[in-house]
Amino acid sequence: MVESISFGSANPPNSLTHAQNINPLLIGVDPNADKDLYLQDTACIICKSEFGITKRKYRCKFCWRGVCSKCSEQKTYHPIFNIAKRICDDCFKIYVHRLSTVSVEYEVSRSKQVIEELQYYITNVIEEKKRDVTMVEVLKGKYQLIEKEIQNIKNQYDNRTKLREAVEEKLKENTRIEKELGVLEIENRFRRRKSRIVEDRVNWIRKLDDKLGNVIKDKILLSKEAMKLEATIKKSTQKRKEIEENYINLEMLRNQKENLKKQLENSQRETPKKSCLECIIQ
Ligand SMILES: [Zn+2]
Ligand SMILES: [Zn+2]
Repeated sequence: MVESISFGSANPPNSLTHAQNINPLLIGVDPNADKDLYLQDTACIICKSEFGITKRKYRCKFCWRGVCSKCSEQKTYHPIFNIAKRICDDCFKIYVHRLSTVSVEYEVSRSKQVIEELQYYITNVIEEKKRDVTMVEVLKGKYQLIEKEIQNIKNQYDNRTKLREAVEEKLKENTRIEKELGVLEIENRFRRRKSRIVEDRVNWIRKLDDKLGNVIKDKILLSKEAMKLEATIKKSTQKRKEIEENYINLEMLRNQKENLKKQLENSQRETPKKSCLECIIQ
């Protein structure tokens, strides 16, 4: 997991990116240390060579002590400056030791982390698989629903086809009925014309009836008149009979008169004294 660290290189190794986040004390750098400690050093703290014109004093950026160039030939990554800085050989030993310890610790923790990550990943995968299984179940359910839906749609389609056929049948029937209606309309018109004629005739008959009524009224009046006339005629006939009877009586009287006259005449011839009877008749 952790790449091999090449100490002393000018640039920090890639794997040290994590080390940048580690407390600098872990790799032997105390950020609160007195950075002017080197000022009191008159000789190299490692080889004890005294500083002078031929022996220059350098400052180790890790322990801040004075060292000669031979005892501080390395430069290494400095977690505070974040670049490579001079390091004395003692600090370098500590640095290497601590860094390797840190690396091992880091590697262990990293491995733990990786295991945790893997466990997390596996748990996730299992969860995902479970979800997949659930999803498959859901999809199966959905598939069944869709199949049902398709079946419904098929049924609806069949129903619609049946309906369409029925509608077409109805339309045909409609056309037939319309034709029949047309014929009926013509017949109706004919019948209306006929009924108008019949109505006219009925009106005519009514007028005739009225006339007949008038005639009957006239007839009644006439018959009344006739009855009156008949009565008159009866009376007249009776009178006539009476007149005739009177006439007959008169005739009879005349005849009697004639007879009496003749008798008188005869008697006068026999006896003239009987002439006064003639006076009485006249
Ligand atoms: Zn030295
Ligand atoms: Zn040092």
